Order: sequence, then C-alpha cells, then structure tokens
Amino acid sequence: MRDHVAGAGADVGARRPRVLIAGGGVAALETLLALRELAAERLELCVLAPAREFVYRPLSVLEPFATDASGGTPTPSLPLADVVAEQGATLLSGALAAVDVDAGMAVTRAGERIFYGDLVVAVGARPERAVAGALTFGAPQDAGAIAEVVRGVRAGTLRRVAFAVPDGVAWTLPLYELALRLGTERDPQGRAPELLLVTPEQAPLEAFGPEVSATARELLGEHGVALRTASMVEIYEDGLLWIELEGAAEVDALIALPRLRGPAIAGLPADADGFVPVDGFGRVAGEEGVHAAGDATAQPLKQGGLAAQLADVVAQDVVHRLLGGPRPSPFDPVLRTVLLTGGPSRFLRAHVARNGEEHEDEQVADEPLWWPPAKIHAQRLAPYLAERLLREPA
Ligand SMILES: Cc1cc2nc3c(=O)[nH]c(=O)nc-3n(C[C@H](O)[C@H](O)[C@H](O)COP(=O)(O)OP(=O)(O)OC[C@H]3O[C@@H](n4cnc5c(N)ncnc54)[C@H](O)[C@@H]3O)c2cc1C
Repeated sequence: MRDHVAGAGADVGARRPRVLIAGGGVAALETLLALRELAAERLELCVLAPAREFVYRPLSVLEPFATDASGGTPTPSLPLADVVAEQGATLLSGALAAVDVDAGMAVTRAGERIFYGDLVVAVGARPERAVAGALTFGAPQDAGAIAEVVRGVRAGTLRRVAFAVPDGVAWTLPLYELALRLGTERDPQGRAPELLLVTPEQAPLEAFGPEVSATARELLGEHGVALRTASMVEIYEDGLLWIELEGAAEVDALIALPRLRGPAIAGLPADADGFVPVDGFGRVAGEEGVHAAGDATAQPLKQGGLAAQLADVVAQDVVHRLLGGPRPSPFDPVLRTVLLTGGPSRFLRAHVARNGEEHEDEQVADEPLWWPPAKIHAQRLAPYLAERLLREPA
C-alpha cells in the first residue's frame, strides 16, 4: 500500500487540517464550495472521486424526448478537475472503500491510504432494479431505453405505458415528470397514449404534502395519466402488469424507479440498507471526525436540495470542529424543486420534519420561489452551476 496523500491529517508545512471529501456529486461539491467560503486557505481540501465528471441528473428526464440527430441532448456535466482546481483543492482519483476512524485514515478500493483531519462521506447511493421485467429509470445512462418507449409511442406501436414507484422510494418526482411529459406525445393519428402511474404513496408527490399532491393530481388528469395510489407493482411479465392484491393490467411497457442502496463503507456504521446514520449536524453516529451528507446518509428522502442543505451544515460543523468557528444550527430540511410538466414548470416547496412525515409552509407556484430557479436548490452549487453549466427549462 502506498500513501496517496502523505502526512497525518494535515499538510505538514502549512499545518492546515486536511478535510477529505469522498464523492463528486451534489453533496460533495456543495461541501467543497462551503468549506472554501467559510475557511478560505485555513483548511487543506481534498476530493476523492472515481468519476471524472459532475453530472446534473435532474435534467436527464428530458433526454429520452430529445429529437436531435444524435438521439438525445446530453444531460449537462462538468469536469470535476476544473471545479476542484478552481476551489484550490486537490482531486484524487479513486473510491472510498474503508475508514479506520481511530487512525483518521481512509482507504481506497485500490488500497491507497489517505489521512484526514475530518472526512466527509458524500458518495451517494447505488440504484438497484426494483421491479422485475420493468425498464428502470434512475440515471442518465437509462435514458436510451426510455427513448425507445418514446419512439414507440410516437410511432403508434406502443399505446399503453405504465410507471411504477417501488416500495421504500420516497423521492418519486422523476417518474411523475416522465409520465407528464409522455402524456404530451401523440402518434401519427393524433392519439394520446394510455398512461397509468402506480405508486405506494397515499397521494402523488406525497413527500411535499397535500397542496402539492392536489396540483400533481390535477396535472396528471390534464396529461391523461391515470393514477393508482397505495398500490404496488409486483412484476411485469408477458405484457401483464401485476399489481399487489389487485391483479393484472395489460400494458406495452413499464418504467420503474430503482430502489436505492447505501454505500456500506467498511469501518463506518450502516443501517440495514447500507446507509450511513447521521445526526442533525451530519456527524456519523459515534465516529469522531467523520461526517456524511447526501444520498449516502440514512435520511429518508434522497433529494439533491436536501443533500446540499445537509452539506452546508456539515461544512459549518467541520469548521467549528477543526478551526473553532461558530456552532451551526442543525439540519432543518426544506424541500424545493421544479416539476417539469411538458408545459409550464411548477415550483414546489415544503418544510419537512426530519422524520419526513410532516409538512409546513407548502407552496406551489408558476413563478420561481428561489433564485437561481434550479431543480437542485443549493445555496452555493446552484449559482455556481447557473453560471457555468445550466440553462434550465422555464
Ligand atoms: C432522474 C433523476 C432526477 C432527479 N431530480 C431531482 C430534482 O429535480 N431535484 C433534486 O433536488 N434532486 C433530484 N434528484 C436527486 C438528486 O440527483 C440526488 O439526490 C443527488 O444527486 C444526491 O447527491 P449526492 O452528492 O448525495 O450523490 P450523487 O449526486 O449520486 O453523487 C455521488 C458521487 O460520489 C461518487 N462516488 C460513488 N462511490 C464513491 C466512493 N466509494 N468513493 C468516492 N466517491 C464515490 C460518485 O461518482 C458521485 O460523484 C434526481 C435524481 C435522478 C436520478
């Protein structure tokens, strides 16, 4: 084994504590931007990520519908090396595999050791196919298979398409967006597809609360999407969609969200699905000097805006711990996003209790409720991306 970064959690010359951020997604980059802003040069920042690009996944729902010659608009992405260098940090190529908390040491899959003063685990979740026989949509690379369905609907060869939310998935928005958008397609005879969305939620987009659910119901109705709530698809086989306790419906294609699994990093605590338990400051239960943020944590809602909010609290807590900055207020999740409808977008906002079950201050609007009006609301990352990367659809 060789040490990828020498030293014992601090760069020796400058005696700055080293913060190692594992991950290259929303939570990692928001943490990086926040640490740079809060601590300037007083921390040595390293980012450990296996991928070369930061990919803005929310816009991948549009990719299957793009009609350009190449078959799709690529989901926006940015070279990680540029972002990291711009923040005066070091990018290490690799994946976090294990942590030795007592030694303050992270170990990569390649066996390299990296010492840290604080470790921020922001490695995201792993999507797993949840409904047998269905097309799974959970990442930009799934867009090609969904584009086939769109082409079938446009050609009139696929008339009935169903959408399924698997049990245990709380962030359901992308599936609603796909269904709404597909509802605007017509075949050569001008016929709309027959669409059905099956979800275990008690109401559509339940995570946002009743006002947003009412809007979602209305939109689904307008786009010709039949809705079955409190229901679960068991399997899709031979053109039959089997719904638990109800029986079968005939459909030509089924699109399902994946189930997410946690990273299960050796040496760190994990819940039954491999997610990292954290407190309101993103501190990993019982582990000194280790924080986590984003989809990798055991928070019920795996959403980019919440990932960024927790990352901001984590960054403040790291600065508090290592440099004696002010103690942050704990994570107080507010869900915000833009719902793409195939027509005018809707801006959705709700204050959510940490148990994910209570909502306050719900808002639905046709005009932006925050600025920049990004699908992933992130205090620092959203303006950063708005400048460099994104023209989001209005
Ligand atoms: C289709 C779709 C639509 C969505 N729409 C919205 C939306 O409208 N609004 C919203 O707020 N959210 C949305 N989300 C959710 C949002 O994208 C995620 O919640 C968010 O990306 C989570 O951020 P993260 O940093 O925790 O994880 P990720 O963004 O998944 O990033 C994880 C990073 O860690 C890296 N990594 C993986 N393993 C390791 C390892 N072992 N060591 C080091 N690095 C590792 C990965 O390469 C990646 O760079 C959507 C998601 C999808 C899939």
